[in-house]
Amino acid sequence: METKIGSTVIRLVQGDITKEVTDVIVNAANTSLRGGGGVDGAIHRAGGPEILQECIQKYPEGCKTGEARITTAGQMSAKYVIHTPGPIWRGGQQNEKRLLKHCYRNSLLLATEYNAKSIAFPSISTGVYGFPIERASKIALSTVIENLASTTITEVCFVLFSDSDYQIYEKNLQRIGKEE
Ligand code: ADP
Repeated sequence: METKIGSTVIRLVQGDITKEVTDVIVNAANTSLRGGGGVDGAIHRAGGPEILQECIQKYPEGCKTGEARITTAGQMSAKYVIHTPGPIWRGGQQNEKRLLKHCYRNSLLLATEYNAKSIAFPSISTGVYGFPIERASKIALSTVIENLASTTITEVCFVLFSDSDYQIYEKNLQRIGKEE
């Protein structure tokens, strides 16, 4: 589905984020920035070894949870990958919500520094990191919408891997769209 918030298009798609042709693809990374499983593994495989080389060279210390770092997108159609380690869900009392918000906000701000017009997000933290998707989807959508005005972005795409994740994002985007 697609909806407009101000002059920005918000698009939901089901599929593989590595195939997106947006300026930026966001990676649900881990703090080492040395690759991993899930969407992180898929991005490094699709982009090729330059992504890891740049991570090692530029970010020897990795990246803290909620922060964001940028590299080339290698062989993918996107111009950049923004790597942001999401919080590991530990029951909800360990700042998980705030940190997840930071992931989305810091990714948008970094994309803006590079003058990006379009960005694709996966559902950060809702895979191996265990963040409940219902709550995570609301945080993802509302944080992006709240921060759009301070960015260069005119198109935001959420790429959901499974049909059930897609349905949850769709329901919540429809709700938020009505409130806007
Ligand atoms: P995290 O460690 O942040 O939970 P995961 O990669 O385990 O990250 O999962 C985040 C989300 O990304 C999950 O919903 C997972 O199904 C999804 N995912 C996995 N591979 C891809 C892909 N190629 N494109 C888009 N989303 C993906």
